[in-house]
Amino acid sequence: MAKKGKPSIEIYGSWCKRCGICVAFCPAEVLAQDDSGVIYVKDPDHCTGCELCELRCPDFAIQVRQLKKKEKAERTVEKMKGELHEDLEKT
Ligand code: SF4
Ligand code: SF4
Repeated sequence: MAKKGKPSIEIYGSWCKRCGICVAFCPAEVLAQDDSGVIYVKDPDHCTGCELCELRCPDFAIQVRQLKKKEKAERTVEKMKGELHEDLEKT
C-alpha cells in the first residue's frame, strides 16, 4: 500500500507476462521481480508518479493511480491544519 499522498501502483497479475520492462524503466527503483518473475511494488514511497512503467508496459498490466486534484487539495488543507495546531500548541 502506498503512503498517504503518493500515487498508487496497480499490477494486474493475469495480464502481466513478467517481461520486466516496467522494472527496468522505473527511474526510482520502485518495482521489483521476485524469484518467479512476479512484479511487486518494492518501494512505494519513492514513486514519483512519472507513469513510465504504465507507458512502457506492452500488456497494459500496470496502472499508476494519481491523486485527483480535489483529493490533493483536501490533503493539503489537512496538513496545514495539523501544522497550525502544532504551532498553536508551542505558543
Ligand atoms: S510511476 Fe514512475 S516512479 Fe512510479 S513505479 Fe512507475 S516508473 Fe516507477
Ligand atoms: S512491463 Fe507489464 S507485462 Fe512486463 S513485467 Fe511489467 S507489468 Fe508485467
